[in-house]
Amino acid sequence: MSLRMPAAGGGLVMEHVLSVGEPLAVGDCAVCGTDHDASIIFDLGDYAVSCCAACGLVYLSGQRSAAAERVRYQKDHFDTGYMQMFDIEEIAGEQLKSTRASLGCAGASLASLPRWSPVLDIGCACGHFLNKLRGAMSERQFIGVDVSRRMTEKGRAEFDLDLRGRAFETAGLPPGCFGLVTAFDVLEHVVSPGDVLAKMLRLLHPNGWGVLEVPSERTIFRTVARAAFQMTAGTIAEPLRALYHPSHLTYFTPRSLMRLLERQGAADIVLRCKEAHITRFGAGGYRPLARAAIRTAAGLDRLLGTEAKLLVAFRRGE
Ligand SMILES: [Zn+2]
Repeated sequence: MSLRMPAAGGGLVMEHVLSVGEPLAVGDCAVCGTDHDASIIFDLGDYAVSCCAACGLVYLSGQRSAAAERVRYQKDHFDTGYMQMFDIEEIAGEQLKSTRASLGCAGASLASLPRWSPVLDIGCACGHFLNKLRGAMSERQFIGVDVSRRMTEKGRAEFDLDLRGRAFETAGLPPGCFGLVTAFDVLEHVVSPGDVLAKMLRLLHPNGWGVLEVPSERTIFRTVARAAFQMTAGTIAEPLRALYHPSHLTYFTPRSLMRLLERQGAADIVLRCKEAHITRFGAGGYRPLARAAIRTAAGLDRLLGTEAKLLVAFRRGE
């Protein structure tokens, strides 16, 4: 693995560039903390994908740097147009629905959260979801944190919300008092998802709830992409490269996510699959053939109960 300095600013960026002959390292499983049961399942040339047989976690091989991933996230989500590619208002509305549904499955609701307890959204981007949450809940403090200062600055100006442009571990948040902590599409971007979960749990009020969402590893699309790669001896690699892209370091199955939550001390965990926004209303930007493939695969996933997102509600264990 080589290190490259970007042309201008941004700090040190680790790229998935391997010199010829350098062996691909499996890397430690973020759930089990070891590479003991892990092996490389796809060698994509400049990077590889590993799987841990003990817990089922799939992840990009090799070592990662947290600082480099923060730079990558900012670049992918703000600089290169993710925020422009999709209707963020629509996604935020869907996240509000997911929060209600997830709490509902756990026998809770936005109205039943501890009175006056503050609410935190980790990875808040520009605050669109937090703004919707504020509109749906009683008077209380709403805080958003995101490593992208540019996004939080934009959101502060737009929504007049308390959005903090830094890692949530350093955002001065008091432990044990948040009635709701949400993290949509966060865990797959971080180098140590277990550490993030542990810190998230410490912030929760004893009667508070955590809600998070990550992409699911167990979908028709991934199965087909894997089969195409294997049956053509690696010739058809583009679908795999798109599905296991460098921005997402880990790919959870329901089992590996449950195991990680339990290991970090979560309790009353309720996990369900849900459709991804991209298949419901975000496919408009793709070419007709790709759009049809996305919708067909999503339909099959619906039938099989293997929709592309895992949505979880949980509480802090004793
Ligand atoms: Zn594992």
